[in-house]
Amino acid sequence: NQPLHELDPEVAAAVDAELNRQQSTLEMIASENFAPVAVMEAQGSVLTNKYAEGYPGRRYYGGCEHVDVAEQIAIDRLKELFGAEYANVQPHSGASANQAALFALAQPGDTILGLDLAHGGHLTHGMKINFSGKQFHVVAYHVDSETGLVDMAELERLAKEHRPKVIIAGWSAYPRQLDFAEFRQIADEVEAYLWVDMAHFAGLVAAGLHPNPVPYADVVTSTTHKTLGGPRGGIILARSKDFAKKLNSSVFPGFQGGPLEHVIAAKAVSFKVAASEEFKERQRRTVEGAKILAERLTAADAREAGVNVLSGGTDVHLILVDLRESELDGQQAEDRLHEVGITVNRNAVPNDPRPPMVTSGLRIGTPALATRGFTAEDFAEVADVIAEALKPSYDAEALKARVKALTAKHPLYPGL
Ligand code: PLP
Repeated sequence: NQPLHELDPEVAAAVDAELNRQQSTLEMIASENFAPVAVMEAQGSVLTNKYAEGYPGRRYYGGCEHVDVAEQIAIDRLKELFGAEYANVQPHSGASANQAALFALAQPGDTILGLDLAHGGHLTHGMKINFSGKQFHVVAYHVDSETGLVDMAELERLAKEHRPKVIIAGWSAYPRQLDFAEFRQIADEVEAYLWVDMAHFAGLVAAGLHPNPVPYADVVTSTTHKTLGGPRGGIILARSKDFAKKLNSSVFPGFQGGPLEHVIAAKAVSFKVAASEEFKERQRRTVEGAKILAERLTAADAREAGVNVLSGGTDVHLILVDLRESELDGQQAEDRLHEVGITVNRNAVPNDPRPPMVTSGLRIGTPALATRGFTAEDFAEVADVIAEALKPSYDAEALKARVKALTAKHPLYPGL
């Protein structure tokens, strides 16, 4: 029972270096967050040792009385948080949750209708070489090239033409809220199931800052580690118990074996946090920070440098920067921000003229910094640093110093 630093100094060094990276840079990848210490404590607990195939009260292994308690708490809290009658907390990841959900609703070969990957959709919504694209017949809807908003008229037209088994609402890179009632209406018109993947915006939903898809969708999936701020993992929800049996058996034994009970315990802790006032306040700062970024990056000097913001702003925790008129491509812009200590990811813009490994855009998110305690004033400073870094000429050293001052103002994981 040696501690990590003694038993395996090489791995310990990588972990220490990663902690230092998180502490000393500004994390603005929209899908990332900082899990609370209590969440990491549960995840690093002895629950990792336990086999518990099955569900609470119906396990295929003995000795599950304590993990049953933790898993049931997670299920109950999750149902309460989103007003769902059904919850499954076992999916190992967002992609696993999506796989289980899709196979519960449709059969291989059925038609599914999802947002195009290049327009902000996720791999699991029908990308060619993902399981979804390989095993299902995929039709994709898009965002309007003028407004940057999901083209609901196209969605309706495609739904009527192809009569999909499942319509997928949800995104990985989209700065606006979706109208779930309209998705439901279109799904009903063509007798399709509606599956909402709220992985990105689940935290905003929990805080009441984004419409809740649960009353509209047949099935809702999510990750637990993005805006929701918990451990890495996936969940499945449904407003009614109609699909409970199918969903449960799709997760186990359909795609998974033993659940990760240590992660499930950590999920339970994060759902407790997500029901708190402190969490709501944090989500408010998250959205406020994104709006400040959008405003700053649409100011005259940013536009002069060829920087634009897709859809002109944001309603959520991220913005999409459009660099089609900039001297910089997505890769160069990502590298520049990395150089001054800000981590973002390059992202294709709709109808991107550049290849997917280069792109003409950036996705910039605020959840991690909001968790770190950033206020409107801090986000204004971050926005200014980003705007300066994306100009044709920039003073890297001066910008690095401003980033350093921000990280020092909001220490991350003090004492770790
Ligand atoms: N769904 C959406 C909308 C996502 O953005 C992501 C991750 O980026 C996932 C699912 C997949 O989650 P994971 O990476 O945990 O498999």
